[in-house]
Amino acid sequence: MTPQNGIAPVELEQLMARLYGCPMAEISRLPKPIADLWEWQYSGACQELPTEMFFHPDGERGPRRRNRENAAKAVCAACPVIQECREHALSVQEPYGIWGGLTEDERLAILDRKTVASISHAS
Ligand code: SF4
Repeated sequence: MTPQNGIAPVELEQLMARLYGCPMAEISRLPKPIADLWEWQYSGACQELPTEMFFHPDGERGPRRRNRENAAKAVCAACPVIQECREHALSVQEPYGIWGGLTEDERLAILDRKTVASISHAS
């Protein structure tokens, strides 16, 4: 396993035992550091691009909106973290913008399908 903090788990356990006189709790079940959850955003292909490219202004619709969305999706298609971005947007149900190459409506459709599937499995 790759140490997340530069200290191997066995070394950390030995260090804690030496410092506090007792073995450390199982750390693999602890939540990951917050920075690890967001680090992927630093690698996004949209980092240097204007946010207006990914979020629609009030009242935008029709061809203008489709063109903007397609341009944003083209950026996403070449993004090295598209999967992480998409999973994030779906998990927190981002309400606005292009995330992971998906529009708001496309994310809603996926979430609706997942809801229907989970209801079907439950019954
Ligand atoms: S997938 Fe798209 S929105 Fe997400 S980080 Fe990459 S370029 Fe940005």
